[in-house]
Amino acid sequence: MKITKVTSHVLQCDMPEELGYSQQYYSKRTAHLVEVETDEGVTGWGECFGPGNVALANKGIVEKVIQPMALGHDPLDRDVIWHKAYNLMRDHGQKGMPLQALSGVDIALWDIAGKVAGLPVSKLIGGAFRESVPAYGYGMMLKREDVASHVARFEDEAARIKAMGFVATKMKVGLGARDDVKLAAAVRRGVGDDFDFMVDANHGYTTADAFYVGRALEELGAYWFEEPVAPEDHASYRELRAGLKVNIAGGEAEFSRWGWKALLESRGLDIAQPEVCALGGISEYLRVLALCHSHFTPVVNHVWGSAVAVATNLQLLAAMPPLPGGLFPREPWLEFDTTENRFRDELLEEPLDIQGQVARNGGRVAVPMAPGIGVEPDRAFIRRFEVEG
Ligand code: CA
Repeated sequence: MKITKVTSHVLQCDMPEELGYSQQYYSKRTAHLVEVETDEGVTGWGECFGPGNVALANKGIVEKVIQPMALGHDPLDRDVIWHKAYNLMRDHGQKGMPLQALSGVDIALWDIAGKVAGLPVSKLIGGAFRESVPAYGYGMMLKREDVASHVARFEDEAARIKAMGFVATKMKVGLGARDDVKLAAAVRRGVGDDFDFMVDANHGYTTADAFYVGRALEELGAYWFEEPVAPEDHASYRELRAGLKVNIAGGEAEFSRWGWKALLESRGLDIAQPEVCALGGISEYLRVLALCHSHFTPVVNHVWGSAVAVATNLQLLAAMPPLPGGLFPREPWLEFDTTENRFRDELLEEPLDIQGQVARNGGRVAVPMAPGIGVEPDRAFIRRFEVEG
Protein backbone atom coordinates (compact mmCIF):
# COMPACT_ATOMS: atom_id res chain seq x y z
CA MET A 1 0.00 0.00 0.00
CA LYS A 2 1.24 3.49 -0.83
CA ILE A 3 0.31 7.03 0.22
CA THR A 4 -1.02 8.91 -2.83
CA LYS A 5 -2.17 12.23 -1.37
CA VAL A 6 -2.09 14.27 1.86
CA THR A 7 -4.71 17.03 2.06
CA SER A 8 -5.46 19.64 4.72
CA HIS A 9 -9.06 20.77 5.14
CA VAL A 10 -9.31 23.97 7.17
CA LEU A 11 -12.90 24.59 8.27
CA GLN A 12 -14.04 27.94 9.59
CA CYS A 13 -17.29 29.57 10.68
CA ASP A 14 -18.53 32.48 12.78
CA MET A 15 -19.45 31.58 16.36
CA PRO A 16 -22.84 32.59 17.76
CA GLU A 17 -21.07 34.87 20.24
CA GLU A 18 -17.58 36.10 20.96
CA LEU A 19 -15.75 34.24 23.76
CA GLY A 20 -12.49 34.91 25.56
CA TYR A 21 -9.74 33.55 27.79
CA SER A 22 -6.81 35.31 29.42
CA GLN A 23 -4.99 35.96 26.11
CA GLN A 24 -7.68 37.04 23.65
CA TYR A 25 -11.32 37.21 22.55
CA TYR A 26 -12.27 35.13 19.50
CA SER A 27 -15.36 34.97 17.32
CA LYS A 28 -14.47 32.35 14.68
CA ARG A 29 -14.35 28.59 15.12
CA THR A 30 -11.64 26.72 13.17
CA ALA A 31 -10.83 23.06 12.65
CA HIS A 32 -7.88 21.64 10.69
CA LEU A 33 -8.50 18.11 9.41
CA VAL A 34 -5.88 16.07 7.58
CA GLU A 35 -6.87 13.43 5.03
CA VAL A 36 -4.36 10.82 3.88
CA GLU A 37 -5.31 8.82 0.77
CA THR A 38 -3.81 5.53 -0.44
CA ASP A 39 -3.65 3.52 -3.67
CA GLU A 40 -5.86 0.84 -2.11
CA GLY A 41 -8.77 3.14 -1.37
CA VAL A 42 -8.24 3.29 2.40
CA THR A 43 -8.40 6.86 3.71
CA GLY A 44 -7.30 8.10 7.12
CA TRP A 45 -8.31 11.21 9.05
CA GLY A 46 -6.33 13.24 11.54
CA GLU A 47 -6.45 16.70 13.10
CA CYS A 48 -3.94 19.46 13.80
CA PHE A 49 -4.26 21.74 16.83
CA GLY A 50 -4.13 25.44 15.97
CA PRO A 51 -6.92 27.99 15.43
CA GLY A 52 -7.47 30.67 12.79
CA ASN A 53 -4.51 31.73 10.68
CA VAL A 54 -2.28 29.22 12.48
CA ALA A 55 -4.36 26.47 10.85
CA LEU A 56 -3.86 28.04 7.42
CA ALA A 57 -0.09 28.23 7.97
CA ASN A 58 -0.06 24.62 9.20
CA LYS A 59 -1.91 23.59 6.03
CA GLY A 60 1.13 24.81 4.10
CA ILE A 61 3.45 22.67 6.25
CA VAL A 62 1.22 19.59 5.84
CA GLU A 63 0.80 19.87 2.09
CA LYS A 64 4.07 21.51 0.98
CA VAL A 65 6.64 20.14 3.47
CA ILE A 66 5.37 16.81 4.83
CA GLN A 67 3.35 15.55 1.85
CA PRO A 68 6.23 15.37 -0.68
CA MET A 69 8.24 13.35 1.81
CA ALA A 70 5.34 11.00 2.65
CA LEU A 71 4.16 10.24 -0.91
CA GLY A 72 4.92 6.69 -2.03
CA HIS A 73 5.56 5.42 1.52
CA ASP A 74 3.59 2.52 2.97
CA PRO A 75 1.16 4.29 5.36
CA LEU A 76 1.66 1.46 7.87
CA ASP A 77 5.29 2.62 8.28
CA ARG A 78 4.03 5.51 10.39
CA ASP A 79 7.00 5.69 12.74
CA VAL A 80 9.42 5.69 9.80
CA ILE A 81 7.45 8.56 8.26
CA TRP A 82 7.33 10.39 11.63
CA HIS A 83 11.09 10.31 12.08
CA LYS A 84 11.81 11.19 8.48
CA ALA A 85 9.48 14.20 8.67
CA TYR A 86 10.76 15.33 12.07
CA ASN A 87 14.36 15.03 10.96
CA LEU A 88 13.58 17.13 7.90
CA MET A 89 11.91 19.85 9.98
CA ARG A 90 13.96 19.86 13.19
CA ASP A 91 16.41 22.50 11.95
CA HIS A 92 13.41 24.76 11.39
CA GLY A 93 11.42 24.19 14.56
CA GLN A 94 11.44 21.48 17.24
CA LYS A 95 8.22 22.79 18.79
CA GLY A 96 5.07 24.52 17.66
CA MET A 97 3.68 24.52 14.15
CA PRO A 98 5.89 21.85 12.51
CA LEU A 99 4.85 19.43 15.28
CA GLN A 100 1.19 20.46 15.04
CA ALA A 101 1.30 19.76 11.29
CA LEU A 102 3.01 16.40 11.78
CA SER A 103 0.42 15.47 14.44
CA GLY A 104 -2.49 15.54 11.99
CA VAL A 105 -0.64 13.39 9.47
CA ASP A 106 0.43 10.86 12.11
CA ILE A 107 -3.12 10.52 13.50
CA ALA A 108 -4.41 9.88 9.96
CA LEU A 109 -1.79 7.13 9.53
CA TRP A 110 -2.98 5.48 12.76
CA ASP A 111 -6.55 5.71 11.45
CA ILE A 112 -5.41 3.89 8.30
CA ALA A 113 -3.57 1.26 10.37
CA GLY A 114 -6.73 0.59 12.35
CA LYS A 115 -8.86 0.35 9.23
CA VAL A 116 -6.39 -2.07 7.60
CA ALA A 117 -6.33 -4.24 10.75
CA GLY A 118 -10.07 -3.91 11.31
CA LEU A 119 -9.39 -2.71 14.87
CA PRO A 120 -9.97 0.48 16.85
CA VAL A 121 -6.80 2.42 17.68
CA SER A 122 -7.22 1.52 21.38
CA LYS A 123 -6.65 -2.16 20.42
CA LEU A 124 -3.65 -1.29 18.24
CA ILE A 125 -2.08 0.50 21.21
CA GLY A 126 -2.51 -2.49 23.49
CA GLY A 127 -6.12 -2.67 24.54
CA ALA A 128 -8.83 -0.73 26.36
CA PHE A 129 -8.69 -0.46 30.16
CA ARG A 130 -12.21 1.00 30.02
CA GLU A 131 -15.07 1.04 27.51
CA SER A 132 -16.19 4.53 28.48
CA VAL A 133 -14.53 7.59 29.94
CA PRO A 134 -15.89 10.17 32.43
CA ALA A 135 -16.09 13.67 30.96
CA TYR A 136 -15.56 17.05 32.55
CA GLY A 137 -17.25 20.07 31.01
CA TYR A 138 -15.48 23.36 30.66
CA GLY A 139 -17.11 26.70 30.00
CA MET A 140 -17.23 29.94 31.94
CA MET A 141 -15.36 31.88 29.27
CA LEU A 142 -14.55 35.59 29.49
CA LYS A 143 -16.76 38.16 27.74
CA ARG A 144 -16.67 41.93 27.28
CA GLU A 145 -18.70 42.63 30.42
CA ASP A 146 -17.95 43.93 33.93
CA VAL A 147 -16.76 41.87 36.87
CA ALA A 148 -20.17 41.67 38.57
CA SER A 149 -21.72 40.28 35.39
CA HIS A 150 -18.93 37.70 35.12
CA VAL A 151 -19.46 36.64 38.74
CA ALA A 152 -23.23 36.15 38.31
CA ARG A 153 -22.83 34.36 34.98
CA PHE A 154 -20.05 32.04 36.21
CA GLU A 155 -22.12 30.95 39.22
CA ASP A 156 -25.12 30.11 37.00
CA GLU A 157 -23.05 28.42 34.31
CA ALA A 158 -21.14 26.26 36.81
CA ALA A 159 -24.45 24.99 38.21
CA ARG A 160 -25.73 24.37 34.68
CA ILE A 161 -22.68 22.33 33.62
CA LYS A 162 -23.01 20.23 36.78
CA ALA A 163 -26.71 19.68 36.02
CA MET A 164 -25.81 18.51 32.48
CA GLY A 165 -24.19 15.46 34.10
CA PHE A 166 -20.46 16.18 33.74
CA VAL A 167 -18.28 14.74 36.51
CA ALA A 168 -16.42 18.04 37.06
CA THR A 169 -16.14 21.49 35.52
CA LYS A 170 -13.45 23.97 34.51
CA MET A 171 -13.50 27.76 34.36
CA LYS A 172 -11.36 30.42 32.72
CA VAL A 173 -9.74 33.27 34.63
CA GLY A 174 -7.99 36.33 33.28
CA LEU A 175 -9.64 39.51 34.60
CA GLY A 176 -6.74 40.07 37.02
CA ALA A 177 -5.76 38.20 40.19
CA ARG A 178 -8.20 39.88 42.64
CA ASP A 179 -11.23 39.62 40.35
CA ASP A 180 -10.27 36.08 39.34
CA VAL A 181 -10.57 34.98 42.97
CA LYS A 182 -14.14 36.35 42.97
CA LEU A 183 -14.85 34.28 39.85
CA ALA A 184 -13.50 31.11 41.44
CA ALA A 185 -15.59 31.70 44.58
CA ALA A 186 -18.67 32.13 42.34
CA VAL A 187 -17.96 28.79 40.64
CA ARG A 188 -17.60 27.06 44.03
CA ARG A 189 -21.00 28.51 45.06
CA GLY A 190 -22.46 27.34 41.75
CA VAL A 191 -21.36 23.71 42.04
CA GLY A 192 -21.64 23.31 45.84
CA ASP A 193 -19.09 21.67 48.13
CA ASP A 194 -18.87 18.10 46.82
CA PHE A 195 -17.97 18.67 43.18
CA ASP A 196 -14.58 19.13 41.50
CA PHE A 197 -13.83 22.35 39.66
CA MET A 198 -10.64 23.39 37.93
CA VAL A 199 -9.20 26.77 36.98
CA ASP A 200 -7.46 27.52 33.66
CA ALA A 201 -5.29 30.65 33.55
CA ASN A 202 -3.90 30.10 30.03
CA HIS A 203 -0.52 31.34 31.36
CA GLY A 204 -1.90 34.78 32.21
CA TYR A 205 -0.14 35.37 35.56
CA THR A 206 3.17 36.49 36.98
CA THR A 207 4.54 34.05 39.53
CA ALA A 208 3.47 36.34 42.40
CA ASP A 209 -0.10 36.63 41.09
CA ALA A 210 -0.21 32.87 40.53
CA PHE A 211 0.66 32.38 44.22
CA TYR A 212 -2.04 34.87 45.24
CA VAL A 213 -4.72 33.11 43.19
CA GLY A 214 -3.38 29.65 44.03
CA ARG A 215 -3.71 30.27 47.79
CA ALA A 216 -7.35 31.28 47.28
CA LEU A 217 -7.90 28.14 45.21
CA GLU A 218 -6.54 26.05 48.09
CA GLU A 219 -9.17 27.59 50.37
CA LEU A 220 -11.89 26.97 47.79
CA GLY A 221 -10.77 23.36 47.27
CA ALA A 222 -10.18 23.67 43.53
CA TYR A 223 -8.90 20.39 42.06
CA TRP A 224 -6.29 21.82 39.70
CA PHE A 225 -4.74 25.12 38.66
CA GLU A 226 -3.95 24.94 34.92
CA GLU A 227 -1.20 26.84 33.09
CA PRO A 228 -0.73 29.44 35.83
CA VAL A 229 2.39 30.89 34.17
CA ALA A 230 4.18 30.80 30.80
CA PRO A 231 4.91 27.27 29.55
CA GLU A 232 8.62 28.08 29.16
CA ASP A 233 8.87 29.08 32.84
CA HIS A 234 9.72 25.69 34.33
CA ALA A 235 11.28 27.29 37.43
CA SER A 236 8.02 29.01 38.39
CA TYR A 237 6.04 25.80 37.82
CA ARG A 238 8.40 24.07 40.24
CA GLU A 239 8.07 26.85 42.84
CA LEU A 240 4.27 26.90 42.55
CA ARG A 241 4.03 23.13 42.89
CA ALA A 242 6.29 23.14 45.93
CA GLY A 243 4.46 26.06 47.57
CA LEU A 244 0.78 25.39 46.85
CA LYS A 245 -1.54 22.58 47.92
CA VAL A 246 -3.70 22.81 44.79
CA ASN A 247 -2.60 20.49 41.94
CA ILE A 248 -0.58 22.26 39.25
CA ALA A 249 -1.57 21.18 35.73
CA GLY A 250 -0.12 22.04 32.35
CA GLY A 251 1.65 20.87 29.22
CA GLU A 252 -0.77 21.61 26.38
CA ALA A 253 1.87 23.92 24.87
CA GLU A 254 4.70 21.39 25.11
CA PHE A 255 5.88 19.27 22.20
CA SER A 256 7.65 15.98 21.51
CA ARG A 257 9.44 13.58 23.87
CA TRP A 258 12.35 16.01 24.20
CA GLY A 259 10.20 18.96 25.30
CA TRP A 260 8.25 16.75 27.71
CA LYS A 261 11.42 15.23 29.12
CA ALA A 262 12.64 18.67 30.22
CA LEU A 263 9.21 19.68 31.54
CA LEU A 264 8.80 16.52 33.60
CA GLU A 265 12.36 16.59 34.94
CA SER A 266 11.71 20.12 36.26
CA ARG A 267 9.13 18.55 38.65
CA GLY A 268 6.59 21.34 38.24
CA LEU A 269 3.51 19.33 37.29
CA ASP A 270 1.05 17.36 39.43
CA ILE A 271 -1.07 16.60 36.35
CA ALA A 272 0.21 16.42 32.76
CA GLN A 273 -2.02 17.56 29.89
CA PRO A 274 -0.46 16.41 26.58
CA GLU A 275 -2.25 17.54 23.40
CA VAL A 276 -2.07 14.72 20.83
CA CYS A 277 -3.02 17.02 17.93
CA ALA A 278 -0.06 19.29 18.72
CA LEU A 279 2.81 17.41 20.36
CA GLY A 280 3.47 15.08 17.42
CA GLY A 281 0.44 12.80 16.97
CA ILE A 282 -0.37 9.40 18.46
CA SER A 283 3.13 7.97 17.83
CA GLU A 284 4.74 10.70 19.89
CA TYR A 285 1.89 10.88 22.44
CA LEU A 286 2.59 7.26 23.41
CA ARG A 287 6.24 8.12 24.07
CA VAL A 288 5.20 11.21 26.07
CA LEU A 289 2.68 9.13 28.07
CA ALA A 290 5.45 6.67 28.93
CA LEU A 291 7.66 9.57 30.04
CA CYS A 292 4.86 11.01 32.21
CA HIS A 293 4.21 7.66 33.84
CA SER A 294 7.93 7.06 34.30
CA HIS A 295 7.86 10.26 36.40
CA PHE A 296 4.68 8.99 38.16
CA THR A 297 2.80 12.02 36.82
CA PRO A 298 -0.91 11.34 36.09
CA VAL A 299 -2.15 12.34 32.63
CA VAL A 300 -5.44 14.05 31.72
CA ASN A 301 -5.27 14.75 27.99
CA HIS A 302 -5.81 18.26 26.70
CA VAL A 303 -8.69 18.05 24.19
CA TRP A 304 -9.64 20.77 21.74
CA GLY A 305 -11.11 20.77 18.25
CA SER A 306 -13.45 18.75 16.09
CA ALA A 307 -15.02 15.31 16.47
CA VAL A 308 -11.84 13.81 14.96
CA ALA A 309 -9.79 15.13 17.88
CA VAL A 310 -12.42 13.98 20.39
CA ALA A 311 -12.55 10.46 18.90
CA THR A 312 -8.75 10.24 18.82
CA ASN A 313 -8.60 11.21 22.49
CA LEU A 314 -11.29 8.68 23.42
CA GLN A 315 -9.08 5.95 21.90
CA LEU A 316 -6.05 7.17 23.87
CA LEU A 317 -7.96 7.58 27.15
CA ALA A 318 -9.36 4.05 26.78
CA ALA A 319 -5.85 2.63 26.35
CA MET A 320 -4.22 4.61 29.20
CA PRO A 321 -3.08 2.43 32.12
CA PRO A 322 -4.37 3.65 35.51
CA LEU A 323 -1.78 5.58 37.53
CA PRO A 324 -1.52 4.63 40.31
CA GLY A 325 -3.26 1.26 40.01
CA GLY A 326 -5.56 -0.05 42.72
CA LEU A 327 -9.15 -0.94 43.48
CA PHE A 328 -10.46 2.57 42.92
CA PRO A 329 -7.98 4.39 40.69
CA ARG A 330 -8.68 7.95 39.60
CA GLU A 331 -9.59 7.48 35.94
CA PRO A 332 -8.45 9.78 33.15
CA TRP A 333 -11.13 12.28 32.15
CA LEU A 334 -12.24 13.46 28.73
CA GLU A 335 -11.99 17.26 28.46
CA PHE A 336 -15.13 18.65 26.82
CA ASP A 337 -15.84 22.24 25.74
CA THR A 338 -19.50 22.98 26.56
CA THR A 339 -19.64 26.06 24.31
CA GLU A 340 -21.21 25.73 20.86
CA ASN A 341 -18.96 23.85 18.38
CA ARG A 342 -20.57 22.63 15.15
CA PHE A 343 -17.26 21.17 13.92
CA ARG A 344 -17.47 18.72 16.77
CA ASP A 345 -21.24 18.17 16.97
CA GLU A 346 -22.15 18.16 13.24
CA LEU A 347 -18.99 16.92 11.45
CA LEU A 348 -19.69 13.19 11.57
CA GLU A 349 -22.02 11.04 9.52
CA GLU A 350 -22.93 9.43 12.86
CA PRO A 351 -22.46 12.08 15.59
CA LEU A 352 -20.88 11.09 18.92
CA ASP A 353 -23.58 13.04 20.83
CA ILE A 354 -21.24 13.59 23.78
CA GLN A 355 -23.71 15.79 25.68
CA GLY A 356 -26.49 13.21 25.28
CA GLN A 357 -24.20 10.40 26.46
CA VAL A 358 -23.08 12.44 29.47
CA ALA A 359 -26.70 13.15 30.44
CA ARG A 360 -27.79 9.52 30.01
CA ASN A 361 -24.74 7.63 31.29
CA GLY A 362 -23.68 9.30 34.52
CA GLY A 363 -21.17 11.62 32.90
CA ARG A 364 -19.50 8.88 30.83
CA VAL A 365 -18.75 8.76 27.09
CA ALA A 366 -18.37 5.49 25.14
CA VAL A 367 -15.14 4.79 23.26
CA PRO A 368 -15.86 4.37 19.50
CA MET A 369 -15.33 0.72 18.50
CA ALA A 370 -15.25 1.09 14.69
CA PRO A 371 -11.81 0.51 13.07
CA GLY A 372 -9.22 3.31 13.29
CA ILE A 373 -10.13 6.34 15.37
CA GLY A 374 -13.70 5.11 14.94
CA VAL A 375 -15.44 8.02 13.21
CA GLU A 376 -15.96 9.23 9.60
CA PRO A 377 -16.33 12.93 8.71
CA ASP A 378 -19.18 13.95 6.41
CA ARG A 379 -17.60 15.22 3.17
CA ALA A 380 -20.56 17.46 2.30
CA PHE A 381 -20.17 19.16 5.69
CA ILE A 382 -16.43 19.66 5.07
CA ARG A 383 -17.09 21.22 1.64
CA ARG A 384 -19.60 23.62 3.18
CA PHE A 385 -17.13 25.12 5.68
CA GLU A 386 -13.75 24.64 4.00
CA VAL A 387 -11.67 27.80 3.44
CA GLU A 388 -8.71 28.16 1.07
CA GLY A 389 -5.25 28.78 2.44
CA1 CA B 1 -6.03 25.00 28.90
